[in-house]
Amino acid sequence: MKVLVVGGGGREHALVWKIAQSPLVTKVFCAPGNPGIGELAENLPIRVDELDKLLAFARSEGIGLTVVGPEQPLSLGIVDLFEEHGLKVFGPRKNAAIIEASKAFSKDLMQKYGVPTAAYGVFTEVGPAEAFIDRTGVPIVVKADGLAAGKGVIIAQTRDEAVEAVRDMLSGNAFGSAGSRVVIEEFLTGEEASFLAITDGTNIIPLASAQDHKAVFDGDKGPNTGGMGAYSPAPVVTQAVHDTAMAEVLRRTVDGMAAEGRPYRGVLYAGLMVKDGRVKTLEFNARFGDPECQPLLMRMKSDIVPVLMAVAEGNLAGRSIEWHDKAAVCVVMASEGYPGDYRKGDAISGLDKAAELDDMVVFHAGTAAKDGACVTSGGRVLGVTALGATVQQAIERAYQGVGRITWQGVQYRTDIGKKALNRG
Ligand code: ATP
Repeated sequence: MKVLVVGGGGREHALVWKIAQSPLVTKVFCAPGNPGIGELAENLPIRVDELDKLLAFARSEGIGLTVVGPEQPLSLGIVDLFEEHGLKVFGPRKNAAIIEASKAFSKDLMQKYGVPTAAYGVFTEVGPAEAFIDRTGVPIVVKADGLAAGKGVIIAQTRDEAVEAVRDMLSGNAFGSAGSRVVIEEFLTGEEASFLAITDGTNIIPLASAQDHKAVFDGDKGPNTGGMGAYSPAPVVTQAVHDTAMAEVLRRTVDGMAAEGRPYRGVLYAGLMVKDGRVKTLEFNARFGDPECQPLLMRMKSDIVPVLMAVAEGNLAGRSIEWHDKAAVCVVMASEGYPGDYRKGDAISGLDKAAELDDMVVFHAGTAAKDGACVTSGGRVLGVTALGATVQQAIERAYQGVGRITWQGVQYRTDIGKKALNRG
C-alpha cells in the first residue's frame, strides 16, 4: 500500500519514519516533506493547504491511506474532502477539528459533558470581560478563541495586563479574526502533561504519556515556543492520573463529540494540568503534538499502520498498541532568535556524525536543501531523539547526538527531561 503523509515538520518526519517500517507499506509520499523526510519518502511540492492538489495526487497515485499531521488542513476540511472521494484518511473531519480550532467551542463542550477544566467565560466585548476579570482576580489567563500558532495565550499577572490583552485581541490587532472572541479563565497551577489517544469515535486507545517543554530557555524561562523538547514516559502521569484522564477527559470528550453529531476520529491530544493527583484539561489539539510525537513514535513497538487504517475505517475495537519499556527523549535544536524573528540559511554540520549513534534519530523540522547541503529554514530545526533504558540514559544519548551537530547561532535547552529525574 502507498501512504501519503501531509506536513513537513518533525512530527511528520517521525510519522514517515514509523510508517515506512511497516511491512504493509510499499512507498511513502510526503507533502511537502523536508530533506530528512526525503531520505525515507518521496517529497511532493504541494503545500498542506492545497487540498485540491493533494486530492488529485492521492487519486492519481492510488494512495491507500493519507495521514494528516498539522491542524491547518484538518480545519480546512481535508478529511471531509478525501472521504467524499472514497479515500481512506486519518484525522478528524472539519466539524470535529473545531475542538482545537475554537477554544470557546472546546470549553463549552467540556462544561456540557463534565470534563474537568478551569472556570471560564467567553466574551466579545470588553465591559463584561472586565467584570469577569474583577470577579476572578489575578493571575488570570486570556486566550484568543481561534488558531494563533500557540501564541494566543496571555498569562496576565495584573488587572491592567489582562484588560490590555482583551482589548488587543478584541480589536483584531493582535490575532485578526482569531481574536474576535476571547476565552478568559482561572489560572491553574500544577505540572503539565500531554495525554494523547487514538480514537475511531467510539473506541479509545491511549498512547504512552509524554511531557513537553514549552519555554525557550532552561528552567522553563523565557517566552513559550512550539516546544523545545519532550520525553516519554512522564512520571507525573501515574496509573491513577492515567485512569482519571481516560475516564473523565477522553471518554467524556469522545462521547460528547459523538452526541453533538461531531464524531471524533484521529488523535485527540489533551493538554493536562496535574495537581495532587487531580486532573484539569487546559486544551485539546486535533493532532499529534510536536515534539511529543517524536519520542512517542520511537517508543511504539507495534506497527502503526493497521491502527491508523482502523481509525480511518472506524473499526478500532479490539486493537491495542505495544510500547517499548525504554524511555525516549527529544531535544529540539532551534535557530538563533526563535521564537521571535530567527536566522535562516545557515549550513548544518555533523548530521553524518550524529547518524552513527545507535538508538537515536535526528528528525528534521525546519531544514532545507541548498547546493547539496542541509541548511536551517525554520525556527525549530531538528529534533534529536534517543531511546535509553532509563530517562537518564535517553537524555545522555540525545545530548550526545546534539553535541555532534552545530550551525551558526544554534540554540537548545540543556535541561530536557530533568523534571522526570527530579520526580524519580
Ligand atoms: P499550544 O501551543 O499548546 O497549542 P495554545 O495556544 O493552544 O497552545 P493553550 O495550550 O491553551 O494554548 O495554552 C498554552 C499554555 O499556556 C499552556 O501549555 C499552559 O502552560 C498555559 N496555560 C493555558 N491555560 C492555563 C491556565 N488556565 N492556567 C495556567 N496556565 C495555563
